Amino acid sequence: AKAEGRGTLVVYEQGMDMVVQDQHALEIDLRLALQRGEFEIHYQPFIKLGSDTVDGFEALVRWRHPNHGLISPDRFIPLAEETGIIVPLGAWVLERACADAMSWPKTMKLAVNLSPIQLRQGNIVDTVARALKISGLRASRLELEVTETAVLAGADSRRALELIAGLGIAVVLDDFGTGYASLSHLAEMPFKKIKIDRGFVANLPTHSTSRAIVAAITNLARELGMEVTAEGVETEEQLIILKAAGCTNAQGYFFARPHPHSQIEFNVMKPVDG
Ligand code: C2E
Ligand code: CA
Ligand code: CA
Ligand code: CA
Repeated sequence: AKAEGRGTLVVYEQGMDMVVQDQHALEIDLRLALQRGEFEIHYQPFIKLGSDTVDGFEALVRWRHPNHGLISPDRFIPLAEETGIIVPLGAWVLERACADAMSWPKTMKLAVNLSPIQLRQGNIVDTVARALKISGLRASRLELEVTETAVLAGADSRRALELIAGLGIAVVLDDFGTGYASLSHLAEMPFKKIKIDRGFVANLPTHSTSRAIVAAITNLARELGMEVTAEGVETEEQLIILKAAGCTNAQGYFFARPHPHSQIEFNVMKPVDG
């Protein structure tokens, strides 16, 4: 069903409905969506292991399309990046999420994803500083998640990350293990935290190599003074292995799915053993 030919894009929705749209039409839709306020942010908690408390929430953008319903970011972020719409969209996410976080308990952090395109753009540091200023959120409560691609994108991107870290914002290396960056890159950048991609987490109970990789990552991170979050934790079995390996934080459906701001809960829903 994906072979719809060039210039078309297939949007799969919940249920079996399938919508085929011209790429250009979707691009126009995407541009208008920002003006029309069709984007919304869902928040998923990340848990501090040990105290087993909510450490903060990650902002995950969705598109509430008038005809197609809720569209997941995997479907429109790549197009937003190709077209540059990610720049104003990303700025909106930052401002909206910082404002939302102001109503949370003061200990709770906010994590926001940054696209490599946003980092390459000259004024990302201003955009971030502005979101903090408008909302009144303290820099120490903000975490910005970037992938290895962003780090490898060039000296300007790395410089921007250093300036962001200089503001007191935690820079987090996202999707760790999926890219090409060597472990030595880790020490060169001001990362506060590493997020282990959920692909490794899913394989933990059955693949001893995944367990070995996770153990190696947590050991290295500890040496470098970085925290380690395991993402995509769905079962208690995975959680027990991750705790034993020395992960400091965890996130995943086992604890909570992403929810609209009005529905988030500040307490861990499940007791954590092991
Ligand atoms: P990510 O940053 O790696 O975010 C984690 C993704 O895993 C989220 O998908 C989340 O809903 C999902 N997830 C969390 N726990 C579990 C679990 O236990 N099991 C499974 N199977 N999945 C889990 P989502 O919300 O669809 O976001 C997909 C990606 O879109 C994100 O991956 C991120 O790269 C990107 N994204 C989302 N929001 C933004 C944004 O505001 N800006 C940018 N640049 N990218 C964003
Ligand atoms: Ca992320
Ligand atoms: Ca991931
Ligand atoms: Ca990602």
